[in-house]
Amino acid sequence: MSPDPTLKSHRKPDIETTIVDVGSVRFGDGSYPVIAGPCAIEGEDQMMEAAAMAKEGGASMLRGGAFKPRTSPYSFQGLGEEGLWLLEHAGKENGLPTVTEVMQPEQVELVATHADMLQVGARNMQNFPLLKAVGQAARPVMLKRGPSATIDEWLLAAEYILNEGNANVLLCERGIRTFETRTRNTLDISAVPVVQRLSHLPVIVDPSHATGERELIVPMALAGRAAGADGLMVEIHPRPDAALSDGPQQLDRAGFMDLMQSLGFPALRDDIDRIDRELIGLIALRLERSVEIGRMKVKDGLPLRSLDREEELIADARADAVHMGVDPGYAAELMELILRHSRAAQEAELGTGTSE
Ligand code: PEP
Ligand code: MN
Repeated sequence: MSPDPTLKSHRKPDIETTIVDVGSVRFGDGSYPVIAGPCAIEGEDQMMEAAAMAKEGGASMLRGGAFKPRTSPYSFQGLGEEGLWLLEHAGKENGLPTVTEVMQPEQVELVATHADMLQVGARNMQNFPLLKAVGQAARPVMLKRGPSATIDEWLLAAEYILNEGNANVLLCERGIRTFETRTRNTLDISAVPVVQRLSHLPVIVDPSHATGERELIVPMALAGRAAGADGLMVEIHPRPDAALSDGPQQLDRAGFMDLMQSLGFPALRDDIDRIDRELIGLIALRLERSVEIGRMKVKDGLPLRSLDREEELIADARADAVHMGVDPGYAAELMELILRHSRAAQEAELGTGTSE
């Protein structure tokens, strides 16, 4: 089975794996980012506790369902828009980008204003109007595999999104329905390398919905990584026994910490890489701002370099460092280096020595 070059979702000889960026999180670069959060957003306390757990364990992204596709109409259907606000708040407080499910084309705009990535759930994999709508959104999309969809049907669903101009599609294998009833679904691990052979799109695994049982999360998460998956999604809850949906498969704090420990130092390295990307991004932004301010000073004929201001910045960095448990000498040294490079950038741009 080889890729069909006429399909946008399929691999072309000259195209690398697509990297889907969500903030500083990257899917498809060989790392294994972890998305964690509750099945459903149930209220502020639960969401904030779950987000703090996700952050503490080292997850890269936060999940939580506000619009829940439930098998029974009598089950908890989610908090809707209120849930979106809670998710956004929890993500911002913890510095984690967010993903949440959108179920109808009319909801796409609203969900996109609150979340960093849109999720199309397994039950909606072939909701073609929804696929077209998320294809027009300015947000990356995580497309879950339908419980009875073949890999080809799944990739054709992705094709609908790509075809609308949205190139940022992340696939998620969440288990398919087989004759086996001992697990909720069957995690199709082989789908990972098969998708990667056929498609340039990154693919992650979701052992929570695949197995339905928290004891199976660690082995299946490790299996996903061994198979080369581009990331992991797991459900966590501060009190899984009281969860309003999917309680048996959600990890509590201790279970999540165990999982993250099982993933070991490769996971920590992924996180360090992500932090480094954030640092470089912030440095680029800071350089831009200092050139901007230099330009304004030149225009207004103001004195350029201010040693007082530089001293103040270094003192602030020292004080912040003490607060954050970092050696103040380290922070001061870093700030001096940053200031030196800012001056160099200003000189290069404006042809004169200035300061902020
Ligand atoms: C979910 O991830 O919240 C979810 C409902 O999963 P799935 O669509 O895979 O059943
Ligand atoms: Mn769930």
